[in-house]
Amino acid sequence: MTEVEGKSCIAIVGGGLKRTVNKKKKLLLQVGALAACFLAKRGHQIVIYEYRSDIRMEKSRGQSINLALSFRGREALKAIGLENILVKCHGTCMRGRMLHDKDGNLKEVLYDSVKGNCIYSVNRQYLNVVLLDAAEKYPQVQLNFNRKLVEADLEKGKMKFLNTHTGATEDAKVDLIIGADGAHSTVRKIMARRPLFNCAQTYIEHGYVELSVPCKEYNEFAMSGNNLHVWPRGEFMMTSLPNENHTFTGNLFAPFRVFEKLKTREALLSFYTEHFSDLLRLIGEEKLVEQFFEKEPQTLISIKCKPYHVGKTAVIVGDAAHAMVPFYAQGMNTGFEDILVLDELMERYDSNFAKILPKFSELRCDNGHAICDLAMYNYIEMRDLVTKKSFLFRKFVDKL
Ligand code: FAD
Repeated sequence: MTEVEGKSCIAIVGGGLKRTVNKKKKLLLQVGALAACFLAKRGHQIVIYEYRSDIRMEKSRGQSINLALSFRGREALKAIGLENILVKCHGTCMRGRMLHDKDGNLKEVLYDSVKGNCIYSVNRQYLNVVLLDAAEKYPQVQLNFNRKLVEADLEKGKMKFLNTHTGATEDAKVDLIIGADGAHSTVRKIMARRPLFNCAQTYIEHGYVELSVPCKEYNEFAMSGNNLHVWPRGEFMMTSLPNENHTFTGNLFAPFRVFEKLKTREALLSFYTEHFSDLLRLIGEEKLVEQFFEKEPQTLISIKCKPYHVGKTAVIVGDAAHAMVPFYAQGMNTGFEDILVLDELMERYDSNFAKILPKFSELRCDNGHAICDLAMYNYIEMRDLVTKKSFLFRKFVDKL
């Protein structure tokens, strides 16, 4: 990569946002690719090193998988001119939660009954492709797929990669290493060898299985297409988000001991008949059984660490810094916001990393910890409390 006077060479480890599609296939998406767009705009030389292969080269991209994009994420996309295509052209507006009780009764709870603001369901694959394409448009961005970071000297900006195609190792040296390599970040693990680096990881006792709800005849949504649907059942819940192609992508979130009891077709169908009968009708018995047993329940992890940087040469962003449980739908949104904040600091301190990185930790660590806590709390809210009157309301009623 040619050096440009006054500009830095920056490595981004992780092309961003991986997801399991089925047993064999993985998707990767965006925090790293978004960072590349912002930093390339400032004229820096960027090299992305991504463990997996390029999703754009894959023929079949599997079923639609989506996520909720909210204000934080949109602000970041707006800053690089991608908000319109991703949100306005291809996002599905979700104006509130639609709660489904056991008898199939519905109750809508709007997110914003005053101004009508909504959050948007966006296709993950599409978001991934748009960001990678946008990053690649900058001549100073180089994308290296099939490169796994295996070791790094974070103070010296040195890295060692395994080329997963050839099996060879490759060395690289840069001015700044950005670790956007997800919840199980190698960059963070290397940071953790240093004194005064704190890190706590928590696996919750609940996991999830992803399921697809087909559209009706004539390509219509099977349920309201402008809601995030929730089936709160106390200890566990189902959620589902609409897709642009009028299907829904749902998740069953439940304790692993519940999944342990769902090992046979009969057990699964009787569980869905008892707790999610309306959904069972929409998915159909055969499709439910086929999808459910296609994959093992996935784990959910929360990471809180501090600081997010090493001197003036390394920083972690996105899930690498603050992986959270998905119940507040803020994981990717917060990762996008990290990049927006980093970019603002680049502007304020004229790309002086010695000033930018400590300020980034100062501004982001406590916020990262807080949003991890909120995400954890929101699971109880979504699967249980949402069906109950508030504590204050109950106290008020008790007094009557
Ligand atoms: P990742 O997505 O983990 O990407 C890291 C990338 O780094 C991957 O491509 C990986 O291959 C690569 N990598 C890893 N190790 C190495 C290495 N050693 N060398 C090179 N590359 C490496 N968030 C929302 O905002 N809204 C939602 O609605 C939402 N829904 C969710 C639903 C579920 C069920 C789950 C599990 C999460 C959800 N999230 C949501 C969270 C969101 O998916 C994550 O916050 C987001 O994926 C984090 O992106 P990332 O780029 O930081 O990390």
